[in-house]
Amino acid sequence: MRYAAPSLVKGFTMKSLWGRRLATIAMFVNAVPIEAQYSVQPNIFPPGTFFVDGIPVGCGGVTFVLDPNLNDVGQAAPGIIRLNPNVLGALPTTLKLFWVSHECGHHVVGFSENAADCWAIRLGRDQGWFPPKAFDEMIAMFRNNPGDFSHAPGPVRVQNMINCYRAP
Ligand SMILES: [Zn+2]
Repeated sequence: MRYAAPSLVKGFTMKSLWGRRLATIAMFVNAVPIEAQYSVQPNIFPPGTFFVDGIPVGCGGVTFVLDPNLNDVGQAAPGIIRLNPNVLGALPTTLKLFWVSHECGHHVVGFSENAADCWAIRLGRDQGWFPPKAFDEMIAMFRNNPGDFSHAPGPVRVQNMINCYRAP
């Protein structure tokens, strides 16, 4: 009985075999968008959907993108703010909000790093999420930051922000 006709084997007909193939193909087809959804979609946050430690955060019509491969804490581009979740994740909420606000500041004041810092720290002051004592965390974060061609050394940036914070 090595070559039993399929119809003689209970429950194993050509029809049910085809049914199994269809089921397998359907699962495979479904698996592609589900996988893409998990690897891409949770990292893209259209306006009104982004949160920082449970706090809703927006920047006009800007879409937030979490990119663990970003070679910086954040980056502003037209219509987009990219943030590195690995860098931000290690910071206290106040400093996370500062960086998001800094990148939003670029959308408002342009390329200048000092202007974006100033805009961000005044927003934090005026909205109440950056109290004066938060400068302790800010100073610690920037203490060993040497700066680069577009960014002043950390302590210079902090002093600039303290001046902005104190000004009206
Ligand atoms: Zn910047």
